[in-house]
Order: sequence, then C-alpha cells, then structure tokens
Amino acid sequence: MTAGQALLRPEATCRSCGHQGLEVFLSLGNMPLPDAFVHPDDLSQPDARYPLDVAFCSRCCLVQLVGDVPAERMFVENYLYFSSYSDQLLQHSRQHALELIEQRGLGSRSLVVEVASNDGYLLRNFAEQGIPAVGVDPAPGPAAAAREIGIETIQEFFGRDLASRLVSERGHSDVVIANNVMAHVPDLNDFVGGMAALVAKDGVITVENPYVRRLIDENQFDTIYHEHVCYYSCTSVAHLVEQHGLHLNDVRAFPGLHGGTLRWYLSKSPGRSARLEELLREEHNCGLNTIDYYIEFGGRIEQLRHELLNLLHGLQRDGHKVAAYGAAAKGTVMLNYVGIGADLLEFVVDRNVHKHGRFVPGVRVPIAGPERLLIDRPNYTLLLAWNFAKEIVRQQQDYLRRGGRFVIPIPKPTVLEHEPAYD
Ligand SMILES: [Zn+2]
Repeated sequence: MTAGQALLRPEATCRSCGHQGLEVFLSLGNMPLPDAFVHPDDLSQPDARYPLDVAFCSRCCLVQLVGDVPAERMFVENYLYFSSYSDQLLQHSRQHALELIEQRGLGSRSLVVEVASNDGYLLRNFAEQGIPAVGVDPAPGPAAAAREIGIETIQEFFGRDLASRLVSERGHSDVVIANNVMAHVPDLNDFVGGMAALVAKDGVITVENPYVRRLIDENQFDTIYHEHVCYYSCTSVAHLVEQHGLHLNDVRAFPGLHGGTLRWYLSKSPGRSARLEELLREEHNCGLNTIDYYIEFGGRIEQLRHELLNLLHGLQRDGHKVAAYGAAAKGTVMLNYVGIGADLLEFVVDRNVHKHGRFVPGVRVPIAGPERLLIDRPNYTLLLAWNFAKEIVRQQQDYLRRGGRFVIPIPKPTVLEHEPAYD
C-alpha cells in the first residue's frame, strides 16, 4: 500500500464491536514472530513470517491488526521474557500493589487475581502481606518461576471458562489486574467477558496498556507486532467494556512506562472521574477518532525508515562500528522493517541471559551480553530498547566515558549526546 491513504478491507471484522470493513493504514510487511529468537542449531531453518497490517475501526475507534497468528505459537514457544528483568517495571508494579491494598482495604479475606502474571513480579507484593493472590499465565517458564517464589499460578489462557471455574472455586475477586495483556488477546470479548464475570460487584479491574496516542504521536511503530493485536484509547476501551456491563471510570497515565502507558479502572457501577472526561475530550479534539490521524502516521513511518537507514549507512561509511541494545520484540520489528541486518550491526546486546547466543529473527544478528559494549567498544549503539533509555544510559556510563554513543531511533533518528528526554 502507498503512504497517504488507507486500504479498506471489507472482509475484516472488528475484534471489539464486530463492525465489518476495517481500514488498513500501515503495512509493516511479512514479519517474523518478534520474540522467536533463533537458536544457533536452527539457523538453517527459515523464520515463519506473518503479515503485519494495522487497521482502524470507524465505528468503535479500536486500532487492531488484521489477521491472526495461532496463540500457542506466540506465547509458549520461545517465550523468553521475564518481567523481573526491568527495575523500573518492578518499582511501578510494587507501587500499584501498595496503592490497591490501601485504597481497597485488602486483607487475608480478599482475593486478587492477576491475568498474565508472568513470574509473579506483581503478585508477590500482595502475597508478602498475606493477601490471597492467584496468577494466570499460559507461559510455562514464567509460571514455574512464579510458583518457586510461592505464587499460586494457573497455567492457562484466560477467558470466560477459566473465570467461571475461578468463581466457583474461590468466589468473586476483589481486584482483577490485567497488565500488558489485553493488547495480546485475539478473542477480546471472551477475555473482557471473563474479567466481568470474575470481579465482585463492588470490586475493581485495573488494566494497563500502552496508549495508542503515544504510539502514533511519537512514531512508536516498533511496538506494533503480532502479539499486540489491539492498540487502545480511552474511547475504544469505554466502548469495549460497556458491551460487558462494565464501566470505564478512571484513568492514570504513566508517560515513562513502555513508551507511555495508561491504567484504566473498570467497575460494575458507573462514575467517571474528571480526569477521564478530560482525556476523552482530548482524544476527540486531536482527531484520534478519525482515520486521517492514522494515515498521516503511516507516511511519517515511511520517512523514518529512510532517515535511520541513511544515518547508519553514513556511520558505517565513516568507518564506525555499530551495535544495538535491546533484543526484545520491538527491536526485531525495527531491524526487520527498516532493513538493518548483520551487514550493518556487529551484534545486539541484552541483559537477559536466556537470549545470549541466539539470533534476532529475520535479520539474524547475534545477541550477546551488555559487557560486550565495553569489550568490543562499538562507536555507536542503536538503542532499540528506547523505552528503557534512561535506565540503560545510566548503566552504561563507562561505555559513554570511553567515547561510545547511543543512537535513538524514534520519534526521529538522533545521536544522543546527553541524558535521554524520555521519563
Ligand atoms: Zn469496532
């Protein structure tokens, strides 16, 4: 498709409201599964690739991918993401738990259920205070890690079935938490219907997800990948949850988390906060409810691709060695979409030891530990994990002192001379 227009897909049905006829405004091409880091033994096998087309629903304003990848492929195989690897996320989660405990008066007779509980990084804060907490996560590695620290974890996908079993075994839940998961769910209505069935009448559901407005306004196209099937605004969340007898009542913004995260508060009784009303008005005023807003974005991303490629080719022509930091899904998308391969990059470093020795899918760049920045001293390091820019730059003072420089790819490719502006 060409930049500057949207492509109507008459057969594509909205995952939220069922409207037929979604409008595709960005196509990232045939992309390998971004978390499928390649083992050296599998280098002779081609990567499985799936199209990555992003569309807008003109009825409920939900931004979503067209087409599905089998869920089992994405979450179980090669699932190497452990939440506890980010200090910032640990701190954010602890704060969230402590606030809920205080505001909801949680105690030993309460029940907290977290969907996509990963390695128990959030629930441990409840368990620590004797508050019953149950995790749900289909990924075997993180679920086992959670059990090891004493967090009861059900290794399944969440939906209406599991919710009704939980209710009959444990009763309704005072708090249901779903962080960074609602974007991943192919059957959205089964998922939200499950949360609605699980939460107590006077309970609360908190849902955190990256904010689609930040994605668009800051050109964060690399957060678009197969695992993220939906991209939410307050407008689209309100529409979605109302179909299940829930009300979107409040919102909190965390601009520094995952490139801009919102936390939505849902309950069974209505009562919108002034903060939420304000944000809904802003969404209307900035045009986020219209296709034009997204078409412009598609054009900007095409331009960014050319700029970044020119910058890296220029550095290489000047004899500089270039590496990258952050072997995560968004790094895979950035490298594959822009076309940055082993011809331009020496290696990608990442703190997660489970990824060392593997290769970035598609472009097949090797992954190593961060110490390689000091050993090999690449002149420039492309910061693929820009959402952790501050944390990484702080940890890499030695690299900077020895003359190394970071390149930030978005919102516009820039060589970083000082502390990053993200916070
Ligand atoms: Zn819709």
